[in-house]
Amino acid sequence: ALEGVAIGPDIGSCGSSAFCGESVLARDLDTDPRWQPFKKRPLEAGLRACWSTPIKGKDGRVIGTFAFYFRECRPPSRWHQRIVDACVHLGALAIERKEARAQIARLAYYDTLTGLPNRARLRDLISEAIVACPAGQHVALAFLDVDNFKDVNDTLGHSAGDELLVEFARRLRAQIQPGDMLGRLGGDEFVVVLPNRDAAEASTVASRITEALLLPFRIGTRQVSMSASMGISIYPDNATDIDTLIQQADAAMYKAKRAGRSTYRFFSADMDRLAEQRLAHTAALRGAIASDTLKLHYQPQIRTNDGAIHGVEALARWHDPVLGEVSPAKFIPLAEECGLIEQIGLWAMREACRQMAEWREAGLDIPCVSVNLSPISFENPNLASVVAGILAEHGLPPEALVLEITESLFLNERSVAIETMNTLRELGVGLSLDDFGTGYSSLSRLAHLPIRELKIDRSFMQDVERDPSARAIVTAVVRVGQSLQLTVVAEGVETEGQRNWLAELGCDVIQGFLYAPALSPPAFGRWLLEHSARRASAMLRIVGRSLNHSPAQPPSGSSPRISSTKGL
Ligand code: C2E
Ligand code: CA
Ligand code: CA
Repeated sequence: ALEGVAIGPDIGSCGSSAFCGESVLARDLDTDPRWQPFKKRPLEAGLRACWSTPIKGKDGRVIGTFAFYFRECRPPSRWHQRIVDACVHLGALAIERKEARAQIARLAYYDTLTGLPNRARLRDLISEAIVACPAGQHVALAFLDVDNFKDVNDTLGHSAGDELLVEFARRLRAQIQPGDMLGRLGGDEFVVVLPNRDAAEASTVASRITEALLLPFRIGTRQVSMSASMGISIYPDNATDIDTLIQQADAAMYKAKRAGRSTYRFFSADMDRLAEQRLAHTAALRGAIASDTLKLHYQPQIRTNDGAIHGVEALARWHDPVLGEVSPAKFIPLAEECGLIEQIGLWAMREACRQMAEWREAGLDIPCVSVNLSPISFENPNLASVVAGILAEHGLPPEALVLEITESLFLNERSVAIETMNTLRELGVGLSLDDFGTGYSSLSRLAHLPIRELKIDRSFMQDVERDPSARAIVTAVVRVGQSLQLTVVAEGVETEGQRNWLAELGCDVIQGFLYAPALSPPAFGRWLLEHSARRASAMLRIVGRSLNHSPAQPPSGSSPRISSTKGL
């Protein structure tokens, strides 16, 4: 019952004796002030007095207490005294031995410099990860070796080398997830164990680690550049026993060294080819961003009630001279993995705003442009002020810009993203929740997000004409959007049938190949002209019909139909 009670000057007999380092006698628990909060239980058990003696280690620290309880109110006898004298020594020996064992285990299993698991412990960890690996899953094992570490030791001295290794371990730790394991084999060799990760995922982690090491290290007043070479083997694809896996990762690490260091290689050549492809794509994408060769295309969004243009969505396009046309569904996730996505987001906002300003200048009436931003961009607390700067630069009102964000784990209540979204909303910029229905949103959270628009994911559209459950979902999303006073946009609309059904349902805006795919700016200009002409002639037909059927003398100047042609 007393377990966990704190040690202190007036805490029963044991708490007090541990605190002051001397024997404490409570002759009558019922009246002893130190026992008042705790006395109920011992009194119920018929215990009336307690005498506690501290057990001390060789260095004088109190490492335990030894207490006698009595059924009468009384002090200890000489005999009790002798028992205690003998027992506190035995107790001290036992406790210190246990402490020493733990210390030995620490020394035996953990590296003293970095505090990481050492070679012996790592073997256990790898074998635990393999045993726990479910069928069909993988464990990735990565060996890391610091490049040219000997130079650091030789030129800056061993203590600088030690500092570097500690910092190195810290950077590695920051790139892996809580269930992953990091250990030091000794010297400048480290191991990362990634449970439930296949080659592609290991490749992502390896490139993140390589990126993270690019920033120079600070040792005392010096900046030191450092990189590492990594070798990766995959359980069970490459091998099923620890020793072979370790050998393979080690061999792959030497491949990385031979390939010029500061990179990673897989044990298997096939996996290497995939990784190389990724590296080549990453380099090409980086080049495309630097040389400003990414383009934005624009897809119109049409209002269901009057066919007017609601806005346009800007979609990134990348044509690489070697790789050809690369879909954003490929290069956006790549950019997210290799840390280029924030740059792309900034570029897209700037370019879209520049284009909007140009269109406005040319007299094209497009209410707003939607730009896709990765949730990673919303983690930047300065996003709102950057956006304000871009709008000001192009003389655009905040309503002219909408930012699309996908539902994701980033959007939990405590995230910076929510604060950034609130600031953007205050600025007057529109926020739209993209791909709704596929992610993690809970309805209760939806109500608290500062968004003004909901986009139903295009995957539902394909089935809307045939599948009653897809229809039920879309109907529910439209109703939820309406009751939260959000504009609901249906994406991926390809047929008249889909459009008519959505319009009847009361979905506000439609986007899809039915109207147009994403178009280059000149093509979009032409499309807009044709669309306006089509609408105008449709309007004229309606007006013509209504004039033919109306009484000879229409009420002058108040035809509601004619006024609805505004916005042509
Ligand atoms: P998204 O934001 O859901 O964009 C809509 C996607 O649906 C676009 O694909 C568009 O071309 C396509 N689409 C439009 N209408 C139809 C239709 O009627 N039928 C079908 N089947 N598809 C239609 P796209 O351009 O390939 O973009 C794919 C995804 O890449 C986008 O999905 C978006 O998540 C991402 N993305 C594109 N550009 C950017 C960008 O600049 N930044 C960021 N962060 N992501 C972008
Ligand atoms: Ca989008
Ligand atoms: Ca979407």
